[in-house]
Amino acid sequence: VKEDGRNSYCFFTAAMQERSARILALGHALKQAQQRGELHLVYQPQMSLTNDSIVGAEALLRWNSPQWGAVSPGEFIPIAESNGLIVGIGEWVLRSVLAQLRAWLDQGLPPITVAVNLSAVQFNQPDLPEFVGRLLEEAGVPPSCLELELTEAMAMKNPEAAAQQMRELNQRGIRLSIDDFGTGYSSLSYLKRFCIHKLKIDQSFVRDIGSDADDQAIATAIVQLAHSMGLSTIAEGVETAEQLACLRYRGCDEIQGYYFSRPLPPAQFEQFVRARMGA
Ligand code: C2E
Ligand code: CA
Ligand code: CA
Ligand code: CA
Repeated sequence: VKEDGRNSYCFFTAAMQERSARILALGHALKQAQQRGELHLVYQPQMSLTNDSIVGAEALLRWNSPQWGAVSPGEFIPIAESNGLIVGIGEWVLRSVLAQLRAWLDQGLPPITVAVNLSAVQFNQPDLPEFVGRLLEEAGVPPSCLELELTEAMAMKNPEAAAQQMRELNQRGIRLSIDDFGTGYSSLSYLKRFCIHKLKIDQSFVRDIGSDADDQAIATAIVQLAHSMGLSTIAEGVETAEQLACLRYRGCDEIQGYYFSRPLPPAQFEQFVRARMGA
């Protein structure tokens, strides 16, 4: 028993060492990734359940490293957040999305709203509203085409400052949504003081919504809460027709997920929109 304990202890530290070595190496490789053009964006369509049309997309970051292969944003975003690279990367994401939106408008694609994930570091920068406003002007994109996704944790850490930041973004016509809604803890009383347009129902509530009564109750409650405050709802991670039917029945406004489409490279996204909307 003693031997076992010792072995598993050694194994544990070895695994931890390997893990921190990978984090360090990835952080280093990420520094060059941006200049070397290893980052790109994919766009996942968002569909309205009220008129079955594509109303928007979420921009999702991808990293293809020659050395590490495809590294998921779930792994490299937290690294970029801890070593400060997220500021430059986040700026690149915003510029790229706005350039893409401008190009789609020029090509006569029906106007859509693209949602961009913000990290806490970006959201906490005092000049963010000004900065995004300037980028929108430079790109010649209407502010209503841009939506910024925040998390409950980002909003609740310092609710007063967050509310102010949201007001300023809102005054510039930029739309805001709360990502992964229901997984963090948000004080519902604050919600009404935030200038938000949309709640994103987290995929953990969507997965078993066809069979799980608790998930059904949670989805219903989120939709009712949102609607009573004049907000809309979008469900994430919708993979099946059953999930879609269930969400439609509960009054959810929009869906996003593999059932409708995986995240697509820009050219394929454009084709997808044209095929679906006859544009
Ligand atoms: P998220 O914002 O919650 O994004 C949703 C994730 O669910 C994405 O994973 C998406 O590809 C995935 N997904 C979409 N539909 C389905 C589905 O039907 N089933 C399942 N199982 N998954 C689905 P992804 O692209 O790996 O991104 C992971 C996370 O990385 C994102 O979670 C977001 O927090 C972060 N992230 C991605 N791009 C950016 C970015 O540009 N900036 C920042 N700050 N974070 C980003
Ligand atoms: Ca998101
Ligand atoms: Ca999410
Ligand atoms: Ca998430």
